[in-house]
Amino acid sequence: MNIIFLGPPGSGKGTMAERVGKEMKLAHISTGDILRAEIKAGSELGGLAKSYIDKGALVPDSVIIDMMRERFKQDDAKGGVLLDGFPRTVAQAEALDSLTAIDAVINLEVDVQVIVNRVIARRVCEQCGCVYSVKTHAASDCSKCGGKLVIRPDDNEQTVRERFRVYEEQTQPLIDFYAQRGIVSNVDATMPIEEEAAYIIDILNTEKI
Ligand code: ADP
Ligand code: ZN
Repeated sequence: MNIIFLGPPGSGKGTMAERVGKEMKLAHISTGDILRAEIKAGSELGGLAKSYIDKGALVPDSVIIDMMRERFKQDDAKGGVLLDGFPRTVAQAEALDSLTAIDAVINLEVDVQVIVNRVIARRVCEQCGCVYSVKTHAASDCSKCGGKLVIRPDDNEQTVRERFRVYEEQTQPLIDFYAQRGIVSNVDATMPIEEEAAYIIDILNTEKI
C-alpha cells in the first residue's frame, strides 16, 4: 500500500505520517527530513536545497525527482510507503506515477492562521529531529534523546506565509489531480493528535487496499 499525505506546511503531515507509518508498517519518507539531513551533512545537495528552503521556496522539481528516484530503490520502499512532503507539484506527481502506484491520498485540512500559530510554536530536536510544541512541552531539551530543541530556520512568520502561498499555488492542484482518481480522503487536521491518527488509520483500513 502506497499513501500520500497532502496538506499545507504545519498541517501535521510529519507527526501523522510517523504515527500512521509505524502502525501500518509502511516506510515513512519525508522529503523535508531528507533535505535537512543533507544540509546537516554539508552535502552538495544540502547546500543547494538550503538556499530555497530558507526563503520558503520549493527546491527544483528535477532535484527532488532524482532524489526520490534514488530513495525508491531502497529495500524498505518495496513494502509500501507513506509519502510526507512529496509530491508537491504536478510535475512531481507525474514523475511519481512512473515510480509506483498510489492507493490513497490523505488530505489534511487546516486554515492559515492555525498554521502560523502552530509553526511559530514548533521546536525540533537538533539531534534526533523529534518535533515539539512550546505549548505542550516547555523544556528546552528532547525527552527522547536529551538533544537541544531549536527553531527551524524556515519557521518564522514571514517564511511560513510564503510557504503557505507556495502551497496554494503549486501543491493544492494535486488534490484535484488525485480526486479525479477517486482516492482522496479529507481529514480535519485540528483534531487532537491521537484521535486524528486513529481516524486516518481507520480510513486506510476500511479502504482494504
Ligand atoms: P513543511 O511541510 O512544514 O513546509 P517540510 O519539512 O515538508 O515542511 O519541507 C520543508 C521545505 O523543504 C519546503 O518548504 C521546501 O523548501 C523543501 N521541500 C520539501 N519537500 C519538497 C518537495 N517535494 N519539492 C520541493 N521542495 C521541497
Ligand atoms: Zn531528540
